[in-house]
Amino acid sequence: MSEAKNTRIGTRCVQSGYEPAKGDPRQIPIIQSTTFKYETSQQMGRLFDLEDEGYFYTRLQNPTNDMVAKKLAEMEGGVAGVLTSSGQAANFFATFNICEAGDHFISIASIYGGTFNLFAVTMKQMGIDVTFIDQDASDEEIEAAFRPNTKLLFGETVTNPGVRVLDIERLARIAHSHGVPLIVDNTFPTAVNCRPFEWGADIVTYSTTKYTDGHGVAVGGAVIDSGQFDWMKEREKYPGLCEPQASYHGLVYAEAFGKGAYITKIVTHLMRDIGCIQSPQNAFYLNLGLQTLHVRMPHICRSAQRVAEYLAQHPKVKWITYPGLTTDKYYALAQKYMPQGTCGVMAFAVNGTREDANRFMDSLKLVTIETHVADCYTCILHPASHTHRQLSDEQLREAGVEPDLMRLSIGLEDTDDIIEDLEAALSLL
Ligand code: PLP
Repeated sequence: MSEAKNTRIGTRCVQSGYEPAKGDPRQIPIIQSTTFKYETSQQMGRLFDLEDEGYFYTRLQNPTNDMVAKKLAEMEGGVAGVLTSSGQAANFFATFNICEAGDHFISIASIYGGTFNLFAVTMKQMGIDVTFIDQDASDEEIEAAFRPNTKLLFGETVTNPGVRVLDIERLARIAHSHGVPLIVDNTFPTAVNCRPFEWGADIVTYSTTKYTDGHGVAVGGAVIDSGQFDWMKEREKYPGLCEPQASYHGLVYAEAFGKGAYITKIVTHLMRDIGCIQSPQNAFYLNLGLQTLHVRMPHICRSAQRVAEYLAQHPKVKWITYPGLTTDKYYALAQKYMPQGTCGVMAFAVNGTREDANRFMDSLKLVTIETHVADCYTCILHPASHTHRQLSDEQLREAGVEPDLMRLSIGLEDTDDIIEDLEAALSLL
């Protein structure tokens, strides 16, 4: 663990994960090498048996990635982390690491569409069944979704694009009462605004493509383990972690690696067989983003709050969802889990038709139309016309997306300029 581990979040953002020795580079260096040298054949053999620690091939592990993953793990208060090539890969690895064909898991329905499709279509093709639930369903309704072969519960701390806040503590309690972990995607609030492990979540995932990078330069993801879930207590549920592994000479991950077992299995099994590692170059960019995350997030949240308040009182705005508004359905949960602010993303609709929404977006000058979200540029998207355009209005509502919903993501520009741009476009409606 690094010196910065027991410091406040801002110091961890800057310094965690890497402690240079005398004469070392001050900044986390990019180790741009596919492979690593050993002196004896025996040394190399021990690495393949997981009897020694060390780098041998960047498809599994790379020192730059590990330093940045360690920083993210320390920011979240976890024991270990791994960087993946994308947020999609992170959510796939986080779930597939403890599920196999014939298993089942439960997910919140109104999660990011890409993750929904991964679970509902691709993992289904792999023989893994997913039940989608409303995150505001009663305890009894959620309990009813559990089956004997249920392996995990999944949600997003703040959903994309509906900006709904998850009741982490409640869902963790329900998951634990069924002997399974709660996995949460913490992409939108980030560890600066929300630390799910403090509320009982067991695993955290990220699309690091969003605020953590924050400059729109590098696609990436991460999986972080709290180390709190006792796999051995539920050993018949998790044979991949608790039974001897044929591909490692009978090794039992949970016995050999204790609290590091879950991440070690991702690295030595899933990365080995499937790849999906983040490039060291992208990990370097991610680290630059992390080093200013604690400065950017409060600015973005302050700015988003002003924009949300401006939109909320505008006569041409039909509705708005932003958990920082006192009138928002998720205000109380946001105050509990993210009192310093949630994120810069909000959802709203203007009066009129889909065409009016398109006309409004086309009139914007400074706010740009992008599929991306959560970086330094203020941007807007109309899912019904863009990312979800193949869906009918009914299908959109089933996916938790109102047909008139526009997703606005506030960046780092001057707030007055953003509001003036919105005002000019609204005045044309
Ligand atoms: N999780 C959330 C909350 C997201 O918003 C996204 C992408 O928008 C993803 C995961 C997928 O991440 P990526 O695009 O890096 O694969």
